[in-house]
Amino acid sequence: MKTVLIIAPHPDDAEIAMAGTIVKMVHDGWNVIIIDLTNGEPTPHGSTEIRTKETQQATRILGIKKRICLNLPNRRIGNTIENRGKIAELIRLNKPDILFTPFQIDWHPDHCAATELVQAARFEAKYHETDLKGTPHWTGKLIFYISQHRFQYPQPTFVIDISDTWQEKINAVKCYKSQIKNASPSSPANLLNKTVTIAKFFGLTINSAYGEPFIADQPLALKPESLLNS
Ligand SMILES: [Zn+2]
Repeated sequence: MKTVLIIAPHPDDAEIAMAGTIVKMVHDGWNVIIIDLTNGEPTPHGSTEIRTKETQQATRILGIKKRICLNLPNRRIGNTIENRGKIAELIRLNKPDILFTPFQIDWHPDHCAATELVQAARFEAKYHETDLKGTPHWTGKLIFYISQHRFQYPQPTFVIDISDTWQEKINAVKCYKSQIKNASPSSPANLLNKTVTIAKFFGLTINSAYGEPFIADQPLALKPESLLNS
């Protein structure tokens, strides 16, 4: 069974970026684990209780069995030795095949810090002679997802066609009602409208209805038949 660790600065980032891909992985029998670094609060319309309920609802739609909140202070994620150790231990204990983390250039400082933190933790997880729990593990693949505030979108390395899991994706994002309220329903920046626009745009780039973009941190080895599907 393949294991995937998705590290998100806030609850909702994993869904916004890759809920469609998560549902596909779950359908394929993969062990998908989300680690939310913070509980996402405070926000204008949320509370810890509201965000917890929203996250539980979305998690049920994704169909994943394991989701952990590290409860680091929201808005203050830092690439500290202590935080690196917490993530490195989760990597050593769960031994993922793939790590997903936000694309490193963004306006939200938590998103930038999360990426830096995960990259450091990925390396630290393979150390020998350390007090960290678990056993040394190197995650071969590091993939960046896009759940960003910045309006300059990076060129994706690949796009996953999520047309067949789109309904689960939008239903999962809809669970985060407190965050949808942050912009008026008619605003293009409203979380729901933005999610639709981005999925349709990146879907268009691969000639499908909906797509999720990703950036690989290394070249990906493909088989010739993969080229026919692109
Ligand atoms: Zn976020």
